[in-house]
Amino acid sequence: MMAKMVQNERILQIALDTPADHVFDYFWRGEDVPQVGQLALVSFGRREMVGLIVAIKSDSTIPPNKLKPVIAIRNQLLALSPEWIQLCRFAAEYYQRMLGEVALPAIPKNCRAVKTTALDKALKKIDASPSPINQKPKDPSNSPQLNAEQQQALHHIISSPGFSVRVLFGVTGSGKTEVYLQAAAQFLASDGNAQVLLLVPEINLAPQLHGHLQARFPDFPIAVLHSGMSEGERTKQWLLAHAGTARIILGTRLAALASLPKLKLIVIDEEHDLSYKQQEGLRYSARDLAIWRGRQLNIPVVLGSATPSLETWQHTISARYTKLCLPNRAVNSAVLPKIRLIDLAKDKPQDGLSSSLITALKLRLEKGEQSLLYLNRRGYAPVLACDACGWISNCTRCSAFLVLHKNENKNKLRCHHCSFEMPVPSACPTCGNPDIHAMGRGTQRIEETLQNIFPDARISRIDADSTRLKGTAQQAFDQVHRGEVDIVIGTQMVAKGHDFKGLTLVGAINPDNALFTHDYRAAERLFAQLMQVSGRAGRVAPTDGNASEVLVQTRYPQHPLYQTLKNHDYPRFAHDCLQERQHAGLPPFIFQALLRAEARALGIAMTFLKQAAQFVTSEDIVAHDPIPMSLVKLANMERAQLLIESTSRPALQQFLKNWMMQLRQIKPQVNWMLEVDPMDI
Ligand code: ADP
Ligand code: ZN
Ligand code: ZN
Repeated sequence: MMAKMVQNERILQIALDTPADHVFDYFWRGEDVPQVGQLALVSFGRREMVGLIVAIKSDSTIPPNKLKPVIAIRNQLLALSPEWIQLCRFAAEYYQRMLGEVALPAIPKNCRAVKTTALDKALKKIDASPSPINQKPKDPSNSPQLNAEQQQALHHIISSPGFSVRVLFGVTGSGKTEVYLQAAAQFLASDGNAQVLLLVPEINLAPQLHGHLQARFPDFPIAVLHSGMSEGERTKQWLLAHAGTARIILGTRLAALASLPKLKLIVIDEEHDLSYKQQEGLRYSARDLAIWRGRQLNIPVVLGSATPSLETWQHTISARYTKLCLPNRAVNSAVLPKIRLIDLAKDKPQDGLSSSLITALKLRLEKGEQSLLYLNRRGYAPVLACDACGWISNCTRCSAFLVLHKNENKNKLRCHHCSFEMPVPSACPTCGNPDIHAMGRGTQRIEETLQNIFPDARISRIDADSTRLKGTAQQAFDQVHRGEVDIVIGTQMVAKGHDFKGLTLVGAINPDNALFTHDYRAAERLFAQLMQVSGRAGRVAPTDGNASEVLVQTRYPQHPLYQTLKNHDYPRFAHDCLQERQHAGLPPFIFQALLRAEARALGIAMTFLKQAAQFVTSEDIVAHDPIPMSLVKLANMERAQLLIESTSRPALQQFLKNWMMQLRQIKPQVNWMLEVDPMDI
């Protein structure tokens, strides 16, 4: 029997954070009918949960005696907008998840907790803070006069307020940030409520931009959203954005799903950056969702990069996106650094450093200029080995090496994949040989070497290990900015975005690794990283006419990637890469999804994937053979993957939808997940 509601009774369709279904029916009785977009407390199974009301109806297919009541409505919170719910609906469909699995995790925990204490506290704080100021930005007199190219780019962005994607293709230091700021100023001024969303790839880049924003827009409330903040702080910032109080929202990828009721402009800085792809749970691309949002709201989207992703570049070629070029450095007479390839076959490195690099470092030290050494490998040495018996330090839980980390008190072996840790054995665990040695080099070891070569130099290592404590990363960057460091050694953490003014030399210590992996995106990533890190040098005019330089240590100086890098020729590189991808039938010329499975034994995972592959019968869809993942064992689970491809995105989407239903029905005995548009295969 169907449940028919009498007066004052309604059926609320509620999305909950569970893979069981998209929505669930509950009944509600009372005078004030709740609104779509409000949050509601309900019981689900044996527990209570907060869900999102997505529809209000007068009847349900569930029998009345089975319908459970809504326990409470979170009336203190403004309803989420239909546009926001639609965004979540799109993401759920596209990434093959349930609506609640997308929508609820996008809301801070405190707002959807069973108890309202934290939410009420946060709301009180917001009320106490100054009310929104609807004033226009001050005449940006503290901003520099744009050069001709910046002016043109800005004009393009602000000239048409409707949806469009503009790719701000500007070399490092070309003043992309300045264009973002002035575009933001225009949109904030044009509408007393307008909100502007600025996405950055990394938490570490937020403070620099936050500083610029505060200086430029002192009267505009700014909300900052990233995963590194406390729940209380995140709740407050999210509420400011949700209420429309915050006019500028600066955040990392999770901000792409924030509630922004007055959004008028979206800027995605370093759009090519992999950090925009969430690598667990809902594996969404924040960039792609932000672009979808731009289309939905009919507002402009700006993608900035010196090395746009090949997907984006292809869209500029096909004219779906408009390319705006900033070919020169913005600061008068600052020029791009000269890139030199150091052939390691001729200039044999000592402890990882070629004599050319050491000489160059010495010269910069003498001139009182800063240098940056880039090595994308943290720790002291990637592996410990015994020459007597061939033992190497493997993680027992993963198919990976244990990395040697030196600490003041005691040295450790640590797995970078599962965080397993153990003390360094004093002798080989297999043969007892006391002479086990560290192989290869990480940032710690380079730091030690540098200290020996340049005992008087002020050396600072910046990587995930040295900046584990809250605030330490910012301290380290500030030190570099203040000129208190002569040589910085760091991982990709230091490569991105920072505007280091005193830096004139960059050394890439060991970039070759990335050239020969099975991952077809490795070259694209390496090129972007090297361009990024090179871009840290020479951001101000040289004092003595001595140009800044970048030294790339390599065994393959003739490799085409290095040759195009040497000329700072991204368009050439992209052209060659895209041609290869087209011939090989790879993205962006094909659309992919990856089904991953993990189990205690590889065989179980493989069996499931083979079974899954048998469902592929459509002509438009290609299923590759299931294969073990390259990091096959992770934390004692063995993993395999099945790649699915199609030349048609709609065909792939349709197939995935049906496939997911089939896979859920067979209730596999493995952990499995689907990733749409996978980035590492
Ligand atoms: P990008 O984001 O493209 O790497 P930035 O926006 O950080 O570059 O700009 C690099 C430097 O150039 C900054 O110090 C910035 O203040 C300066 N700058 C930007 N635009 C101008 C301009 N029109 N005139 C003078 N300096 C500028
Ligand atoms: Zn041994
Ligand atoms: Zn491990």
